[in-house]
Amino acid sequence: MITVAEASKIIQDSVHIFPTETVPFGEATGRILRESIHADRDFPPFDRVMMDGICLRFEQLEKGQNKFAIEGRQLAGSPPLELTNPEGCLEIMTGAPLAKGADTVIPFEDFDVEEVDGKKYAVIQIAPSKAFKNVHLQGTDKKTGEALLGNGRKLTSPEIAVVASVGKATIEVTQKPKIAIVSTGDELVDVHEQPLPHQIRRSNSYAIQAALAPLPVESKSFHLTDDKASLKEKLGEIIDNYDAVILSGGVSKGKADFVPEVLEELGVEKLFHRVAQRPGKPFWFGKNADGKVVFALPGNPVSTYMCFYKYFLPWLISSLGLEQPKPLYAILEQDFNFKPDISFFLQVKVVSGEYGQLKAIPFAGKGSGDFANLLQADAFLELPQGRSDFHKGDVLKLVPFREL
Ligand code: AMP
Ligand code: MG
Repeated sequence: MITVAEASKIIQDSVHIFPTETVPFGEATGRILRESIHADRDFPPFDRVMMDGICLRFEQLEKGQNKFAIEGRQLAGSPPLELTNPEGCLEIMTGAPLAKGADTVIPFEDFDVEEVDGKKYAVIQIAPSKAFKNVHLQGTDKKTGEALLGNGRKLTSPEIAVVASVGKATIEVTQKPKIAIVSTGDELVDVHEQPLPHQIRRSNSYAIQAALAPLPVESKSFHLTDDKASLKEKLGEIIDNYDAVILSGGVSKGKADFVPEVLEELGVEKLFHRVAQRPGKPFWFGKNADGKVVFALPGNPVSTYMCFYKYFLPWLISSLGLEQPKPLYAILEQDFNFKPDISFFLQVKVVSGEYGQLKAIPFAGKGSGDFANLLQADAFLELPQGRSDFHKGDVLKLVPFREL
């Protein structure tokens, strides 16, 4: 039996970043960027007017002029006009390039309009304190050629905005890996079936599929029976056709737990079996000659769930080319005692404390079969091996399964 840290290390050492593909920009949301994006123009690309109003020369205000003949109108989307008369002004709209010869924008709220002999004048009520007021100057955010986004960035809303603005019609991203989710067990029936008194409906593959749904992967569920020959045949096909396999069930010491031996017969080398942890002790992990990995998780739903978040998800994040998120910690809110000398993953509800710190309220549940208890929790709190008494106020690592 190996420790949690050793298991995590073996899994991280099995990471190979998936290849890339080129996708149309419109399909890039949620994908992982695998190229560098540079500014093709300055940000902003011209001196961009930020308020609807007039533009004029600041030095005229300094000279004491406060009434300006309105000599034209510059709308957004038109090339810049020129303010030829230094004592005049132009109406100008947000998003327009600043007119040549002008250096200051005064919003409509800060002047009145007077009409004399059919000609309009702006009479300034509140003068700006300096030139270039209300002008977003060219290149002040980013310069042409500047790096904006790098490899391994998840393309969420702000990234998509930047990618769109540099005119990338196609984009290089990590290919969606094909993940097989395989549940096993003769006692399990599907969701639409009526279980007999000795049967239960299966839930693990649905839980995993739901957890994978927001990620850029393609997943498919299978259910296999505890028959060794058919397990071997079907699992062999699945391993051939998928990049990674998550199994649940059949890895313990039961007489119908054939998964480890079948995987080894199929050429998947065992890298470990059994981890010093609760839940999830019988976890089996291996890799075949093509580098395909198999996470054979114990079938008890809380074990499956914990192992998915603690082990499979970090592996997937690295394999997609993403950086691991910074570890999150929380303060234990109640004393907790766990005697066996193995790591314990305690289900906790995470709340924000009075100074914004994360606090973990234990909801231990009734063991690894009590998956309804997960409804009350947000994360597992990792209570490390080597200690049995954990105290209110201890700061411990979280394995979150909801957004905190
Ligand atoms: P096993 O690891 O196959 O010995 O299964 C341990 C326990 O988890 C058994 O009580 C199973 O019925 C249950 N179990 C296994 N797979 C699933 C599943 N897909 N959905 C719900 N419960 C499961
Ligand atoms: Mg089973």
